[in-house]
Amino acid sequence: MAFTHDTDVALQSAAALVNTQAGPESADPTRDDLRSLDDLRAFWNEWEYSGPPPTAPADVAPVQALRPRLRELWHADEARVVEIVNDLLAESQALPQLVKHDQWDYHLHATRSDAPVSQRMAVEAAMALVDVVRAGELSRLRICAGEDCDNVVVDLSRNRSRRFCDHGCGNKANVAAYRARQGQADRD
Ligand SMILES: [Zn+2]
Ligand SMILES: [Zn+2]
Repeated sequence: MAFTHDTDVALQSAAALVNTQAGPESADPTRDDLRSLDDLRAFWNEWEYSGPPPTAPADVAPVQALRPRLRELWHADEARVVEIVNDLLAESQALPQLVKHDQWDYHLHATRSDAPVSQRMAVEAAMALVDVVRAGELSRLRICAGEDCDNVVVDLSRNRSRRFCDHGCGNKANVAAYRARQGQADRD
């Protein structure tokens, strides 16, 4: 665990949110897995966000619009990351409060549970980035090393060894390396 549990989860869910949309340099830049309220609800449930779930089609567009802003965090230098994080917190008038709910012991919430869905998602991501910046750990935010993939990756591993996203790029790289070795062996 690189950070506190809630920060780890928030970073992973922020990365997953960014990765619902292909980046501009991926093989298929039109891919978008978050197009509808159903998609958003599935994402929300998968990542176990707390508070009232999205219920209106109008919840979708502001979450979609959040993605490029979060994606920029993976490409920006520290000064720009700080600017984005502070903007996200200011726009939502974030007010940190210690809370415990469900199975979770005390952790920080910085929005009210009745705030708009996109605002709660934005602030959760921003608060996690606060921890990353304070710990000097921005190098844990990486771009997938897979060919034709520009998904974002959060490396929470102890030895900072994670290079690939969750979308099968690690396997593809292994297969390609294996084939290359086989080809070499056949020629020998
Ligand atoms: Zn919580
Ligand atoms: Zn990838």
